[in-house]
Amino acid sequence: MENKIPFRVLMGPGPSDVHPRVLRAMSTPLLGHLDPAFLTIMNETMDLLRYVFQTENKLTVAMSGTGSAGMETVFVNLVERGDKVIIGVNGLFGTRMVDVAKRCGAEVIEVHAEWGSIIDCTAVEEALKQHGDVKLVAVVHAETSTGVRQPLEQLSELVHMYGALFVCDMVTSLGGIPTNIDEYNIDAAYSGTQKCLSAPPSLSPVTFSERALHVMATRKTPVQSWYLDLSMIQSYWGEERFYHHTAPISSIYALNEALQMIKEETLEAVISRHTYFGKELQRGLENLGLSLLVEEGYRLPQLTSVCIPDKVDDVVFRKRLLEKYGIEIGGGLDSLKGKIWRIGLMGYNAKQTNVALILAAFKDVLT
Ligand code: PLP
Repeated sequence: MENKIPFRVLMGPGPSDVHPRVLRAMSTPLLGHLDPAFLTIMNETMDLLRYVFQTENKLTVAMSGTGSAGMETVFVNLVERGDKVIIGVNGLFGTRMVDVAKRCGAEVIEVHAEWGSIIDCTAVEEALKQHGDVKLVAVVHAETSTGVRQPLEQLSELVHMYGALFVCDMVTSLGGIPTNIDEYNIDAAYSGTQKCLSAPPSLSPVTFSERALHVMATRKTPVQSWYLDLSMIQSYWGEERFYHHTAPISSIYALNEALQMIKEETLEAVISRHTYFGKELQRGLENLGLSLLVEEGYRLPQLTSVCIPDKVDDVVFRKRLLEKYGIEIGGGLDSLKGKIWRIGLMGYNAKQTNVALILAAFKDVLT
C-alpha cells in the first residue's frame, strides 16, 4: 500500500492527518469484540469521550460509521413521525440535517441564515412561538462548509424555555473548541473522529442527556433503524454486553489512543493550541492581502474560509498546492463553490510548522 500513497498534508475540511501513535494503535492485534480486555478499552473510551465532550452523560458512546451516522442516530432515536423539528440552516450540514429529519417523518421548520453567518436566536424564537409544541431544535456548532462557529449558550436557554430538546452537530467542534455539553444543557450531540480528534474516519461519538433518554424511553413507535437503535447499542456498550453488531475494533483502538493523547495534553491546552494557531493562520492570510468569509468573533480556529481573489482560478490553484507542496485544502461547496477555500488546522495539524508551510505555499502559488 505504501507505494500507492503520495506525501500529503491534510489541511482541508477533514480528514486531517492522523498522529503516528494513533496509526500504530490501529495496527495492534485484534481482540474479540466481547473479550474482557476489549471491554476495558470500551469503558475507557466512554470515559475519555465524556472528558472531551465535557459531560457526565451516561449515554456517551461511539457509533459505528462516520459523522453522518451520528447525525442519523440522533434523529432516528429522538424523532417520531409527525414531530415538529426546527433546524438552523446556514451551510451544507444544516441542509443535511433537514434531509435526515424529513426521512424520519418529522415536520421540519427551517430557520435560514446566509452561508457564512450564524443562526440568529431571534429567528429561532419566532419559529418556536409560531409553531408551538416543537420537539427539538438543532444547529451545527462548527459549520465546516463555511467556517462559522455557532454560539450555543443563549440558544440552548431559549430552546429549553419552550420545552424542546437542543441538538448540536459537533463533528468539527469536538476537540477543537469547547463543547460544554453539561454547562450549556445540550441534549444530544454527535461528532466524527477524522477532524479535531485526528483519528481516521469510521466512528461517530454521540452523547445524550437524561432529558433525551426520557424522550427515547417514552417513544410510541420503534426506532426505524435497526443498526442505529440506541436501546440496543446501549446494551452492548453498557453492562449487559449483549452482542449487537461486530464492533470496528481497530477504529476503537484508534479513537481510544487519540482521546488518550488529548487527555495527556489536557483538553484546555488542546483548545488553546487550536485558538492560537487558528488566529496565526487567519492573521497570516490577511497579511497576504486575502479576506476571510466569516466575521471576526464567529470564526472557527480549526477551519478558516478564505475568499478566492478575482483572477485566481480555484481548481488550478489547489492543484498546484497539491502537486508542488503535497498540501490538500478544500474548495467551496454549493453557492460558495469557486468563491472560497477552506483551510483546516485540526487536531494534530494545529501546529506552527503547518501554519508556516501553508502561508509560504500560498505566497508562492499566488504570485
Ligand atoms: N457535520 C459536519 C459539520 C461535517 O463537517 C461533516 C463532515 O464533514 C458531517 C456532518 C458528516 O460527517 P461524515 O462525512 O463523517 O459522515
